[in-house]
Amino acid sequence: MDALDGIDLSAYGIYRFKNAGVGSYDAGHVPRPGFLARIYWYIVGGFLAILTISNIISKLVGWNRRQLARQKNKEVQGNQTSPAYTSSRLAKSYFAVVSTMREIINYTVPSIMVNGKPLLSAYALGDIVVITSYLLLLTVLFLVKLGVNAPDNFETFGYRGAWLSIGQLPLLIILAGRRSILGFLIGKDAASLNRYHRWVARGLLLTTSLHFLYFMRHWASYNFIAYQFKSDKMTRTGTAAWSILVWIVISSFAPVRQWRYEVFVIQHLISVFAFFVMVCIHAPGYAYPAIMVSIGFYLFDRVVRFLFMAFYNRSLVTKGSPPQACVAVGSMSSLTPSVVVTIPTPAGLKWYPGQHIYLNFPKIAPTQSHPFTVLSSPQDGELKFHIRARGGLTQKLYSPLVDALPTSGAGFNSMSSQVAVLVDGPYGPIHSFDTFDTTVFLAAGTGMSFILPLVRDLVSKSRNGLITTQRVHVSWVFKQFSEIEAYYPILVNMLSQFDSPDDANNCSSLRQLKFLMDMYITCEDSTAIEGITTKARLMAKSKKKKARSKKAREADFPLNKGECGQLDGICCCSNEGSSTSPPCTCCCAFSGGSVEDKHESYDSKSGLFPSELRKVLSIDSKGSGTTCVNQSPVDKLTALIQSFPRRVALHTARPRSLRYELMMPHLVKARGEASVCVCGPRSFNEAVRRHTVAISDQRAVNRGTGAQAIYLYEEAYDF
Ligand SMILES: Cc1cc2nc3c(=O)[nH]c(=O)nc-3n(C[C@H](O)[C@H](O)[C@H](O)COP(=O)(O)OP(=O)(O)OC[C@H]3O[C@@H](n4cnc5c(N)ncnc54)[C@H](O)[C@@H]3O)c2cc1C
Repeated sequence: MDALDGIDLSAYGIYRFKNAGVGSYDAGHVPRPGFLARIYWYIVGGFLAILTISNIISKLVGWNRRQLARQKNKEVQGNQTSPAYTSSRLAKSYFAVVSTMREIINYTVPSIMVNGKPLLSAYALGDIVVITSYLLLLTVLFLVKLGVNAPDNFETFGYRGAWLSIGQLPLLIILAGRRSILGFLIGKDAASLNRYHRWVARGLLLTTSLHFLYFMRHWASYNFIAYQFKSDKMTRTGTAAWSILVWIVISSFAPVRQWRYEVFVIQHLISVFAFFVMVCIHAPGYAYPAIMVSIGFYLFDRVVRFLFMAFYNRSLVTKGSPPQACVAVGSMSSLTPSVVVTIPTPAGLKWYPGQHIYLNFPKIAPTQSHPFTVLSSPQDGELKFHIRARGGLTQKLYSPLVDALPTSGAGFNSMSSQVAVLVDGPYGPIHSFDTFDTTVFLAAGTGMSFILPLVRDLVSKSRNGLITTQRVHVSWVFKQFSEIEAYYPILVNMLSQFDSPDDANNCSSLRQLKFLMDMYITCEDSTAIEGITTKARLMAKSKKKKARSKKAREADFPLNKGECGQLDGICCCSNEGSSTSPPCTCCCAFSGGSVEDKHESYDSKSGLFPSELRKVLSIDSKGSGTTCVNQSPVDKLTALIQSFPRRVALHTARPRSLRYELMMPHLVKARGEASVCVCGPRSFNEAVRRHTVAISDQRAVNRGTGAQAIYLYEEAYDF
């Protein structure tokens, strides 16, 4: 040992000795470890730059289509070509490439099934290619120009592993942020970035393991392992950091992560903190810039989130209490227990359809905050959520209300309570489905809370003539009648816009928009649904009769401007459209009920209802709540299909084929780029992904015409 006196045997000392000299290559023209880490960033950065550019191009294409749609809308005769169709040779080639790329990216490898259930969630080919390329890149950079079994190289390999590990830290952290700049640039949501975050962590485990393993091999060849552990702090802290990372990766696998999600989150934060502390102690000065950048990304995300949260929840300080949420439950549902949560929109909070907000209920679960998609639209003045009761917090919201629900008494019962809430958000990308010729929306269960705001947005944009879309088809598969509760007022609000009186804005694009919605109830008695459709048919007949007799009576008793009357139990008011007369109050009666209701004429801007329709559907003047009669879900479904028979259809069973019934018939009609948007359980989303690829492939004969490209967006309610 005396011969070694004066030599710094710590890993840092050896690093300086081994890597002495400047430049990217050593004397044998072998790349230095630090240079390899730079190459890693050039390649990853280049890939992210390509994604950013393609995101910008797709935004520009969308912007161009909106301009064309506006122009087309202005033309008196109306141009027959779809703005989503392109005739220029350059654009055709671009879409041919895009279409082919999408087919490859979305191709889904069939899952391995065990007892009829998928063993692993099926990854799309695009994800598989990105992930394998990433792991390959790390392997190639690690191995380049050195023989793996030559003892002389063991130490260099150890350093390569170290540099590649440190290089990955900033990417690892930026992919985990909720307010990620990267997500904004490449147009991805936190959930998809999170998947890559997990894979980068696995890549990090690979390179740190190689770093560890090769130093061990190096020390083993001098019989030095015990000495290193005893004498060198760096070796001990490095081993501790590596062990924590092994734990982080194992505990992040789906079955462990989803077992107790909240426990997972808390232990994950503690483990990541401990990992960074160990890395800071372990790593020499040359690693600090990368570590600091990573910590900077993390702090940026946290600080921005905290500032937004403090601003939106400022009533906690100004009024001494957080905003109060109204949690309501309707009829009891054994299969699909859920609550509707309504919160007055905190001043200044802006969100876009399809975005989600994290809710924290300090009195129910102070340490937890859960993501939920906003069901209401910004113009509603409130945040509304449809929340499915699962095992933890959501069950705590649901159970007390259901326990208090009166079980006796005829008719439909509901129960609500006030509870303090803190909001954190909004999060998620801004979606724009208004630039496609045809869009097929598919929702399963509570997935409708993501789909409906997007559809509503499309319809209201169409009123302003700003969209390219010619055809919209919505399919909603759900289990029980009661699931209509949360969506009913919004559906009515939206559908009634199609039947509203003509106005300058409305006449063109909304009238041209072909809109159909199919609802599939899968767990109710089919005779009950038959009952609804028969009842709806009968009601429609009697409504026709009433309309005839109302006309005759109006002729006999004409109303003066500003005067209210009541004909056949339907509220009527003759000052519709008059801006000078004050709104009059009418007494409305429907189904035996009677309420005082403020009458308002149809407002083309806000999309409120014609009075007659409002009464039939029992919708309040904002279009967001029931006022006239406490209708049961069955009544509501009946009213819906009775009032909009040309737009809404109710089916008694599961769709026979997702592809041939819900997707194909609509997508084949697309005269330009089409899109599919799906939100449901993973297996449902995967099936839709497969069918989208198959349909796109079937239309491939048209490749180059610009008509065949299909864009797919999937949303799943889990991490
Ligand atoms: C972007 C997004 C939007 C969502 N929107 C809705 C919605 O509009 N309506 C709705 O009913 N559900 C929605 N969810 C799902 C909802 O967040 C979970 O069902 C809920 O957090 C479950 O809480 P729990 O404690 O009752 O369930 P548990 O029984 O404890 O957990 C059930 C599953 O929910 C997931 N989960 C639990 N806690 C969280 C959490 N804090 N963050 C993320 N996932 C979690 C896990 O996968 C877990 O396995 C959404 C999820 C995401 C990611």
